[in-house]
Amino acid sequence: MKAPLPMRTFRAPGRVNLCGEHTDYNQGYVLPVALDMECRAAAAPAGDGRLTIDSALLGPGGSYRVEELTSIAPRGDWSDYPFGVARQLALAGIEIPPLAVSITSTVPLGAGLGSSAALEAAVALALTQLAGRELPRLQTAKLCQAAEREFAGTQCGIMDQFAALYGAENRAVLLDCRSLEHRLVALLAGMRIVVVDSGVKHKLAASAYNRRVSECAAAARRLGVESLRGVSVEDWPALEPKLPDIPRKRARHVVHENRRVLAFVEACARGDAGALREIMRAAHRSLSRDYEVSCPELDFLVEAALEIDGVVGARMTGGGFGGCTVNLVRAEAVESFCAAIAARYGQAFRRAPRVYCCRAAAGAGEVKG
Ligand code: ADP
Ligand code: MG
Repeated sequence: MKAPLPMRTFRAPGRVNLCGEHTDYNQGYVLPVALDMECRAAAAPAGDGRLTIDSALLGPGGSYRVEELTSIAPRGDWSDYPFGVARQLALAGIEIPPLAVSITSTVPLGAGLGSSAALEAAVALALTQLAGRELPRLQTAKLCQAAEREFAGTQCGIMDQFAALYGAENRAVLLDCRSLEHRLVALLAGMRIVVVDSGVKHKLAASAYNRRVSECAAAARRLGVESLRGVSVEDWPALEPKLPDIPRKRARHVVHENRRVLAFVEACARGDAGALREIMRAAHRSLSRDYEVSCPELDFLVEAALEIDGVVGARMTGGGFGGCTVNLVRAEAVESFCAAIAARYGQAFRRAPRVYCCRAAAGAGEVKG
């Protein structure tokens, strides 16, 4: 009888951003949390000279001879994420051995919780480790981002990949998108993260997102700075009159949002739940009124959440135009919060939201045992 092949499994988490929205492409601060929802890549050596990848959810993802990996082309489906990673690793000189990789995930796909980055990071670790190599985490994060940008065709920032690799239990990750320096931030004890998915997806989200990116770049140009990160809250009153209406509103959001991230971190250090509530409320209002990326469903979910007992704070999270809200809820109130928010949303919009109760989890690694 043949000995069973040694299979090794690697995991990487999804993420939600607590504070710092639309700041990443302005070289600002973000504060994501890696979640206890994860993608797993189980890799077993194969005897056929090929790298083969399957997803339990989306089926076969194709197969290539390992020596071809530097010259493959995208297929236009989900396999572009893992094979984009394989290609980047091969281009970086890592000799990927023949493997059969099976993907499973508990991160909902396309809900704005970073399932694509979780997939990339789990596959990157699996392929690197089975090649007998070790890469610095920052290089892995950059390589996953490059795979998503160049092979899967999404112009993403580095936040999701960074959170998937650097997350830690009960901690958020304060990331400076200019220097790529980070620091772990302890969250309030006894607080849970509840993500509420409005179920709304606007077709125009991608083009509106790109428009925000160019509006910010135009504002930075007019102000003579490399990016809006170069403008502080103190500089703002003198600079504001130089901008026409729309770029002024966009820049006002970004300048103050960067400061809010730092204030959020300070409030966590002080254990100041009242301050967190006000920061999240101000962040949501700014995204809704100045950045204009909210929608009636998200505004409703935030307002309704703030009226429910045990809620520390609530705001929309992610790019906007639908998607999710992030809610900080005291542990003992989570159950009643989930029921109450679903009931209120259902009554107002005749649809049930998906509600995910989460904890801050560790970043990517091997699953032992
Ligand atoms: P998000 O990252 O917010 O979930 P994206 O649109 O960036 O949304 O990525 C979602 C895509 O990632 C899916 O449509 C699919 O192509 C790919 N993906 C994520 N998880 C899996 C999985 N378990 N199996 C196959 N493909 C996956
Ligand atoms: Mg994604």
